[in-house]
Amino acid sequence: MKISFHGADRGVTGSCHLVECAGKHVLIDCGLYQGGHELGEENAAPFGFDAATIDYVLLTHAHLDHCGRLPLLVKRGFRGEIITTAATRELARVVMLDSAHLQEEEANWQARKTARRGSEIMPQPLYNTLNALNTQEYFGRTAAYDQPMELATGLRVTFLDAGHILGSASLYLQLEEDSRNRSVAFSGDLGYSGRPLLRDPVPPPKVDAVVMETTYGDSLHKPLLPSVEELYQAIEETFRRGGNVIIPTFALERAQELLYYLREGVETGRLSKSMQVFLDSPMAISATEIFRQYPECFDPEALANFGHGHDPFMLPGLHFIRETSDSIDLNRISGGAVILAGSGMATGGRIRHHLKHNLWRQNSSVIFVGFAAKGTLAREIIDGAKTVHLFGEEIPVKAHIHTINGFSAHADRDELLSWHRRVGAARTFLVHGEEEVMQQFGALLENTQVEMPSLGQSFDL
Ligand code: ZN
Repeated sequence: MKISFHGADRGVTGSCHLVECAGKHVLIDCGLYQGGHELGEENAAPFGFDAATIDYVLLTHAHLDHCGRLPLLVKRGFRGEIITTAATRELARVVMLDSAHLQEEEANWQARKTARRGSEIMPQPLYNTLNALNTQEYFGRTAAYDQPMELATGLRVTFLDAGHILGSASLYLQLEEDSRNRSVAFSGDLGYSGRPLLRDPVPPPKVDAVVMETTYGDSLHKPLLPSVEELYQAIEETFRRGGNVIIPTFALERAQELLYYLREGVETGRLSKSMQVFLDSPMAISATEIFRQYPECFDPEALANFGHGHDPFMLPGLHFIRETSDSIDLNRISGGAVILAGSGMATGGRIRHHLKHNLWRQNSSVIFVGFAAKGTLAREIIDGAKTVHLFGEEIPVKAHIHTINGFSAHADRDELLSWHRRVGAARTFLVHGEEEVMQQFGALLENTQVEMPSLGQSFDL
């Protein structure tokens, strides 16, 4: 009985862990390393195991840093079964196809660059759209929350709601080999209680070992309600000045939560009924449609609303923008619009066009509602850049810049600690966090042996 670590080790992205038990090889997640180097060496490197030997992949949720190397796994010989919740399966399909498309575009761009230099080496995408489509064939049984599934003799898994994004799960594994029993929990990415759409995380029962995320293991979140109020105020003030509100947003969860709050704002009279809202992101639109198909994943309050014929994401002036030409038309709007577009950190996508057309305008606003890594355009603007470079032009930053920090999809330090107390594991493997954050978080854990695995390290269970 062994566990080994093949991603998100002393880092936040690329989640991938391998459990070997009862003659079976079980992978937990197979995520992409992210941070501006999607074609980078980490993603293209060998997995550290033979893809053809993997019997099952248990997928915790549809974020790219958890599912983004699945098409590569299939390309390299995986022929087993991918098991996840129904909602995650749908969302992961959209996420993997989008990722394949971006990688093809990036490879084409690199190819043109190398051709200009007279080089014959053609850069290849990590995987293409066909690989992403092929991957769908390997999604087998869907997991229902709280229902144990027997994968093989001595190998049982239960998916538990992680409250992080739609369909997200923590895993509870019950293992048996040579009459030894072990229980292992994987936190996946954890949300927290009291969010408007999702149910609260359900911790697994007491286990022998736990593998847990530590993204915000060193910090506490601002409360949600004051953040929603800040959002309403920023929108109101911008409209009074006659400008537009530009919100860079992640397509999964954040975009839907924003629609939910905007609808609430209109219904409670905090925001004007005539407000025009544009969701300018095909991926976010697809994700919103998937949300509507899985109301059973909503928390009781949102579900009750939905049951009364309310669509939690629909407000009077909402427009879904899929076509590029319609997105370009938005450039002509000079005021009174809220434009939501990706990418969340403004590293690519349609948001960069909206920033180009609004950043220089004093009456407009840009509202950042998510994490912005160092080196990204979002971070540059948040840190007070006077000008930024967009499409070969130097654009002055004159718009009002707001950073609202209360919308995280991740548990904070105290929420992680209380989750850990509930699972009461004798051994704790910390993953999915920066090394300094893990050190600080690990020091707070009591009655457990803490490990911070490095890439490729394996342990007997
Ligand atoms: Zn996640």
